[in-house]
Amino acid sequence: MATIAQIAVPGSTKTISVPTGLFINNQFVPSLDSKETIECINPATEEPICSVVAGSAKDIDAAVAAARTAFTTTWGKNVSGFERSRLLNKLADLVERDAQELAELETLNNGKPLKIARDFDVGDSVACIRYYAGWADKIVGQSIDIDNKTKVAFTKHDPIGVCGQIIPWNYPIMMWAWKVAPALACGCTIVMKPSEFTPLTALKLSELIVEAGFPPGVVNTVPSFGSVGGAALSSHLDVDKVAFTGSTATGRRIMEAAAKSNLKKVTLELGGKSPQLIFESADLDQAANWVALGFLYNTGQDCTAGSRVYVQESISDKFLQILIEKAKALTIGNGLDEKTGGGPVVSKVQYDKIWSYIEAGKQEGATCVLGGEKRSGKGYFVDATIFTDIRPEMKIVREEIFGPVLSVGKFKTEEEAIQLANNTTYGLGAGLHSNDAGQCMRVSSALEAGTVWINQYNLLYNNVPFGGKKQSGIGRELGSYALDEYTSVKAIQWNY
Ligand code: NAD
Repeated sequence: MATIAQIAVPGSTKTISVPTGLFINNQFVPSLDSKETIECINPATEEPICSVVAGSAKDIDAAVAAARTAFTTTWGKNVSGFERSRLLNKLADLVERDAQELAELETLNNGKPLKIARDFDVGDSVACIRYYAGWADKIVGQSIDIDNKTKVAFTKHDPIGVCGQIIPWNYPIMMWAWKVAPALACGCTIVMKPSEFTPLTALKLSELIVEAGFPPGVVNTVPSFGSVGGAALSSHLDVDKVAFTGSTATGRRIMEAAAKSNLKKVTLELGGKSPQLIFESADLDQAANWVALGFLYNTGQDCTAGSRVYVQESISDKFLQILIEKAKALTIGNGLDEKTGGGPVVSKVQYDKIWSYIEAGKQEGATCVLGGEKRSGKGYFVDATIFTDIRPEMKIVREEIFGPVLSVGKFKTEEEAIQLANNTTYGLGAGLHSNDAGQCMRVSSALEAGTVWINQYNLLYNNVPFGGKKQSGIGRELGSYALDEYTSVKAIQWNY
């Protein structure tokens, strides 16, 4: 029997029960051989929350076997699209019912503000699950006449099979929904590996998988360390696909493991160093709102964080003043406090990493015009930090920081703006702010990014595809595009 942790919600009399074992075949079980645990920490207080079993490679084998059996018996091609849709809709209802509790758990484990966790992370996840519930019975192929209509070919979109899903800590619930919902809609089965920093909501959601009525083995959850569970999934010979969100360095390892094992399909949603361009015709107040949101949302721990901003020289001083005021207005504090606009960063590792970048920025000669000073006391808090006088070769300009740190540069011409924006190995998001329609068309076409936002930033919709170019990833999530990533097309030719 696996254990259950009773987690107290500070400031209330409430406790949340969370299973702390591995979830395989619709049951919470102990590890087959691992004695290791994952220690969950509240980043706002640095206090322990609970510990969770850290699964081993053998546990991954057991979860994959469960997923394979489900795929070939109760799920896969043996379940109708209508039934998949019904179960996904039921799951969405349950996630919506438990929104407050899931959000509290997310805030405790990840640090993000409760209101954001509930209204955006959980709210958008419910919408995402419903969106793919809508697709589940509409995944159809084509009929193609061949040889002067004497024969016919038709295509079937078969589920790919057993999918390993490896997710990060910055949006634990939302990344779960983005991965689980399209995979289930297509008829795939799943072995989910949440981040070792934030495994709690994936375990709580696993309870809802049972309650919704999914057959055993359709969704399995194995909390584990990346180098153990993640590596085992990526190199597993009986896993048909790995869907990954995380850093570019890990994405590279996963692709290598997939190539060296069974050439499983891989989709990668990786890091970014996304630029925003502010042209002189832009509404500066609005643009500053989007830039502040772009680098501060989720305390900058966002793959599309707009962490480089280039402003046309004629308006740069004025824009910077407006931006600094907007950034100062954000209250960073304990996510359980209703007034908090931004929480702590997720872990000590992340906190130290962000501070090493802030120090590098100072040492390399950038000017820190906001923040850049450590707070005293407990909690992994980093205040909004803005650097100016930047050069392209600086670490803070080139590398993903994943914290609330912004580099602001200048440009004279549109060509220069495009060149600066594209001067990166990444290509996830980009923003441009301009009231010149021709410029919006030209620049959005020239920007090398999977998503370009014009006069807005960082908005995501379940029906709009999301993913990266260059070293920001392979494949697309969301929209009908995600269905292609979980199906394999079979052409059947018939000489009738
Ligand atoms: P990470 O790469 O360290 O970890 C992500 C996941 O991979 C975790 O579950 C981890 O346990 C696992 N992992 C680690 N080593 C592994 C290995 N060798 N084999 C298989 N799995 C392994 O990333 P992180 O620090 O959790 O998340 C931050 C990164 O994620 C940032 O770079 C960010 O840009 C990226 N991210 C991208 C998107 C996107 O959609 N493009 C979204 C969110 C986060």
